[in-house]
Amino acid sequence: MHLKFIGRGSAFNTLEGNNNAFYLNDKGQMLLIDCGETTFTRLKEKGILNEVKELFVAITHTHSDHVGSLSSLILYLFFVLNIRANLVLTGDETYNRTLKDLIKIMGVSDDNINFITTNEFINKMEEFKSFEFLESAHVDNFKTFGIVYTADNGITYYSSDTNSTECLENYLNNKDLDKIYIDISIREQEGNSHLSFDTLLEVVPKEKRNKVYTMHFDSDELIQKAIGAGFKVVDKI
Ligand SMILES: [Zn+2]
Repeated sequence: MHLKFIGRGSAFNTLEGNNNAFYLNDKGQMLLIDCGETTFTRLKEKGILNEVKELFVAITHTHSDHVGSLSSLILYLFFVLNIRANLVLTGDETYNRTLKDLIKIMGVSDDNINFITTNEFINKMEEFKSFEFLESAHVDNFKTFGIVYTADNGITYYSSDTNSTECLENYLNNKDLDKIYIDISIREQEGNSHLSFDTLLEVVPKEKRNKVYTMHFDSDELIQKAIGAGFKVVDKI
């Protein structure tokens, strides 16, 4: 299973658009991971929402380039497409409450949306045999979650934004690994909330780079560096 990307840029890379991924099956069921400021516009303009019959959204953290157009998407689905979106909740009640409050103050009422657990999600979208949020390191002011799921070809780890290599290194050595989607950054300064490209080069041996899909690019220069070093680069629709 491949995720598709409607944007693959870091927060200020307006050319590439906000990084986020989706999977849409032939029944019209769609998993959307994150919904940043540019995401709703791009999904609508590309006609992707016309194919959606059931939507599941997983939000990794509340930076606006990951959640900024979520309420517009939910309300468009409800009022225009007559679909009630499903927000997949983490196991962290405080984080879930923050997400619920955030969309509430942006105009989403409980009538417009369903809140579901990860178990309810995998019961509805059968390609996913397991689906789990993993707390990761990104910024100090709120929690951020990566995602790990199992599908036909094995385990996929999706880092979201992180400056930690812990999960990356764990899943690289998992014999059932299918692929890893990893946040990278060209910046090297201390306190970087993203994973620097030089760290990625140190951590991932050359023979494993064909399973590592880089994303969340600061610039075209970084995309070219990742390709040159043997990593995969996610395609943007
Ligand atoms: Zn972030």
